[in-house]
Amino acid sequence: EAKRSGRGCFRYYDPSLNARSALHLDLHSRFRRAILGDEFVLHYQPRVALNGLRITSLEALIRWQHPERGLVYPGDFIDYAEQEGLVVELGNWVVREACRQIAAWQQEGITVVPVAINVSARQLRDHSFVEVIRETTAHYRIRPDMLELEITERCVVDDFERAHAALEVLSGLGMKIALDDFGTGFSSLSYLRRLPIDIIKIDRSFINDIRNQTNDAAIVASTIALGHNLGLTVIAEGVETREQAVYLKAAGCDEVQGYYFQRPIPAAETLPLLRDGIPDR
Ligand code: C2E
Ligand code: MG
Ligand code: MG
Ligand code: MG
Repeated sequence: EAKRSGRGCFRYYDPSLNARSALHLDLHSRFRRAILGDEFVLHYQPRVALNGLRITSLEALIRWQHPERGLVYPGDFIDYAEQEGLVVELGNWVVREACRQIAAWQQEGITVVPVAINVSARQLRDHSFVEVIRETTAHYRIRPDMLELEITERCVVDDFERAHAALEVLSGLGMKIALDDFGTGFSSLSYLRRLPIDIIKIDRSFINDIRNQTNDAAIVASTIALGHNLGLTVIAEGVETREQAVYLKAAGCDEVQGYYFQRPIPAAETLPLLRDGIPDR
């Protein structure tokens, strides 16, 4: 009888399409349930000041603890969540979880550094974003400046005015704003001029071969000079070796982040780092 049912019958006759949309629906509802349940988790990676190896903040990085597939990294689901309109819900969970964790550490008497969260384009232009930050920090009784935001060009390119307005309010609450993956886009420089940016994070693609590639070294040196001339903090991402760290320190880079110092780790493993600092290397 499906054959004769008119408009909808196309789907019946394309089994592959049917299977695909069923899979899609399954993934969609699975993902929503995962947000509401406890399948997502934040790992933390310290940012380290190069004079004295002090931890200045922790970057929160989301992971999906998938019941069958194990730990899934954001590269495999953030774009999907963005396309499906689920990224706002996911992002709100990140805000909540980060605030809950900061409050929990504070209650244990730990001196906590600010936690930086990565925001997506849709999340930043969502009308409730500023309110979510305000309400969640108030709910957990933490100061808004215990959160930092990491944005990329992609976050502001589609609706600059909305993003700008939200960032001005959040910056006014004392939150620091970092421009992530700096150097990979096209208009980073104009954003530095027009947005309340405090921190530049040089993309790790410039750091990989910093000691061999004179172009990368020149770009990094110029970015550090630019950042400092604008009164910003300059951070290098993806520092994997001692040589890179030594080089960046000599080049005047303020802070570093990368596997050489510490990989992203669960909150429980972050606690001893907050208490005792980064082990000397
Ligand atoms: P990102 O914000 O640029 O984060 C840095 C990425 O580099 C992280 O990957 C981190 O684990 C990785 N990394 C850190 N140190 C090193 C290193 O020394 N070497 C190398 N090769 N990689 C290093 P991860 O956790 O897979 O996250 C990937 C991206 O997913 C992030 O890039 C960020 O754009 C996005 N993301 C992560 N968490 C969230 C979130 O909660 N919300 C949103 N919207 N995006 C997120
Ligand atoms: Mg980031
Ligand atoms: Mg980055
Ligand atoms: Mg990135």
